[in-house]
Order: sequence, then structure tokens, then C-alpha cells
Amino acid sequence: MMRRRIAVVGGGPAGLTFARVMHRHGYPVAVFERDPARGARPPGGTLDLHEGLGQLALDKAGLLTPFRAMSRPEGQTMRILATDGTVLRDWRPRPGEPANPEIDRGDLRDLLLGPLDVQWGRGVTRVVPGARDGAVIHFADGRHETFDLVVGADGAWSRVRPAVSTVTPHYTGVTVVETSLDDVDTRHPDLARLVGDGSVAAYGVNRGLVAQRNSGGGVKVYAQFRAPLDGHTSGDLTDAEAVLSGLLARYDGWADALLDLLRRGTAFIRRPLYVLPVSHAWTHVPGVTLLGDAAHLMPPLGAGANLAMLDGAELAEALATGPEGTGPQDMAGAVRAFEEDMWARASRWAKITAAGLERLVSPDPAQALALFDQVQPA
Ligand SMILES: Cc1cc2nc3c(=O)[nH]c(=O)nc-3n(C[C@H](O)[C@H](O)[C@H](O)COP(=O)(O)OP(=O)(O)OC[C@H]3O[C@@H](n4cnc5c(N)ncnc54)[C@H](O)[C@@H]3O)c2cc1C
Repeated sequence: MMRRRIAVVGGGPAGLTFARVMHRHGYPVAVFERDPARGARPPGGTLDLHEGLGQLALDKAGLLTPFRAMSRPEGQTMRILATDGTVLRDWRPRPGEPANPEIDRGDLRDLLLGPLDVQWGRGVTRVVPGARDGAVIHFADGRHETFDLVVGADGAWSRVRPAVSTVTPHYTGVTVVETSLDDVDTRHPDLARLVGDGSVAAYGVNRGLVAQRNSGGGVKVYAQFRAPLDGHTSGDLTDAEAVLSGLLARYDGWADALLDLLRRGTAFIRRPLYVLPVSHAWTHVPGVTLLGDAAHLMPPLGAGANLAMLDGAELAEALATGPEGTGPQDMAGAVRAFEEDMWARASRWAKITAAGLERLVSPDPAQALALFDQVQPA
């Protein structure tokens, strides 16, 4: 193992957790990230890390204690409103209750990065498996490098995935438009009260509106609705006025307090929700594997980053210790055993989150409330 060259493509939750756990076991990994630098783009909103998933992965990386110090258990607080603003549910974790504390993506990235030496600005265009083993990574700048194992952790639109699978993501029928509010406690105290320490959500016919507190007084607002794709892709929406008036028409009749979450947003980003098939798997290809969204993209219902991190930690442990004690020499065996476990776990969660999305953005808004009661009976 010490002489094996291992690379991970993508410095998101999956890739960084993989590299960090490998580092803990004393194995170096080359991390290639397309972003030109740490912090080159806004890292995104908050993530809740579950005990048996993301927190387990952090434990395997030796990072559970610092995570506990920087995460926000109070971020679990959740209020559900009717579209007229009536409070339907107001849930907060009880002291001592196992919670899924929230952490901002940027803080999580910094925690995982620690001593890792990421190669920024190294966008990958494709990966070509070798005739017998290993694989060649081709970079956007025209260079290429050969490794014994290439781990694709490059997210939904993975450039590594075609080396093992012909499957591509498909649109769920649901689009999210995201906006942000800064410094809410000072600039928007009414909205700060509405959102509280955690989240507030309201669900109407085929649409929902969710706002989540981030650290430092930030709030992310997600308008989610059923809409045809119309050739739209993900990205920043430049005509903010037109986007806002489109959203206000879509949420016509909703309480002013909820609409203010949109009206006071600073910029809008479109995210059509794509998924991979629920049981996406592939015939094992020596020298290449996938983790996280690259392997099992699913609706964003609080599992994706958690699964991505656990994938990364478990693959690293499998490589560092070998399957069932066979020792670290059997890299192909370790990867194959890992893939079987990952596919089984991801398939369970893909089914849960697909069914969850159907209920959250549903013709019958009572379904969303029923789902909430089911997952948070307290
Ligand atoms: C609105 C929204 C809210 C969400 N909320 C939650 C939540 O609360 N909890 C949760 O668990 N999950 C949540 N998710 C899902 C979660 O964001 C993803 O499942 C998770 O980020 C997947 O991690 P990853 O490392 O596999 O991929 P990514 O986070 O997508 O990271 C991939 C990395 O690879 C890099 N990259 C991409 N292409 C290349 C290339 N060609 N060459 C080199 N580098 C490349 C990217 O720049 C990126 O850094 C949410 C998703 C969305 C859209």
C-alpha cells in the first residue's frame, strides 16, 4: 500500500473525508480539485451531520471533538407554518437528545482540510482505466498522470463516472431557487425571529419554502417547486428582479412574512434537482471507483453529504486495513468489498429521499406535514 499511488478527484465532503482518513492512517493521497483556490466560491449553506453517518465519518478521521465544539445542536430547531403563517409545528431537540448538529459547509471543509495538501485548479476532464489495472487522469490543462487507484469524488456531474458507468443523472421535476440573507439579527430582526435558531418551512401545492439559519447571522432560503426543465441549468440568475417577480407570482397568496424571505434575498441561484437511479451500481473496474454524489446522487433531504463522508471514511479504512483482515496488500479486494457496502447503503437512502421529495413537494401539502411528524415525532 505504501508504494501505491492513490488520487482522489474532488475536494468536497467525500473526497476530503477520504483523504483525511487516509492521512490519519499514514497514507498520502493526491487530491485534485477544480476550484482555483480554497474559498474561490461561496461554500453553500448548512449541513446536519447524523450520528451514524457524517459524525461516524468524522470520528474515523479523529475530528469528532472539534466538530462538537464548532457545530450548532440548536440548529435542529424546526418550525412548520401553514402558507398563511399559522404555526403548525414548533420542534426543538430536548437537552441530551441525540441530535444532528448543524455545521456550515465552509467550516466543515476547513475542518477536513487541516493538514491536507490539495492541488487546487486541477480540473479533470476524463479518467481512462489501464489495460490491467491503474488509471490515467487527464486534466483540463492538457497534462495527464497515472495512478494505481483513482477515486472519483467529483459530485453530480462527475468526469470520473464514465470510466465505470454509462448512467447520467436525470431531472426529478423539482427545481430549487436559493437566495441568502446576511446579518439577519441586525438587518432583518423580524425574519431572524421567524427562522429562529434553526429552520422554518411552509408547504403549499407542489411547492415549499424553507429558510435555514447559518452561522454568523446568515440565512439561506430555498424555494422549491415542480417545474419543467425548459433547458435551464444550474447557476446564478442575473436578472434578480425578474426572478423575484416570478417567485412572488408562484407563491401568490402566501403570508407576507414568508414572502419577505424572498423579497429581501440578495442574489438567486437556480438548482434543478437531478438524481441517479436509486440502485446505481457498476461492474467493478480495477483502478477506479466513485464516492458520494458521483456514485449516488439523490434528492437533498439531509443525507447526501453524510453518505459522501461515510463513503470516504469507509473506503479509506478498507484500503488501510484490507477487507476482513486480509491486510492492506489487496487493494482491488478492498475496493470491491467497499463498493458492495456503499451500493447497499446508498440504495436504501436513495429510496427514502426519493419518496421524501415526492411528499415534500406534493399536490397534497398535508403529506409534507405527515412526513415531518414521521421523522420527528417529538
Ligand atoms: C440545496 C442543497 C442542500 C443540501 N443539504 C444537505 C444537508 O442538509 N445534508 C446533507 O447531508 N446533504 C445535503 N445536500 C447534499 C450534499 O450537498 C451533497 O450530497 C454532498 O455535497 C456530496 O458531496 P460530494 O463530495 O460527493 O460532492 P460535492 O460536494 O459536489 O463535491 C464535489 C467536488 O468536486 C469538485 N469537482 C467537480 N468536478 C470536478 C472535476 N472535473 N475535476 C476536479 N474537481 C471537480 C467540485 O468543485 C467539488 O469541490 C444538499 C444539496 C443541495 C443542493
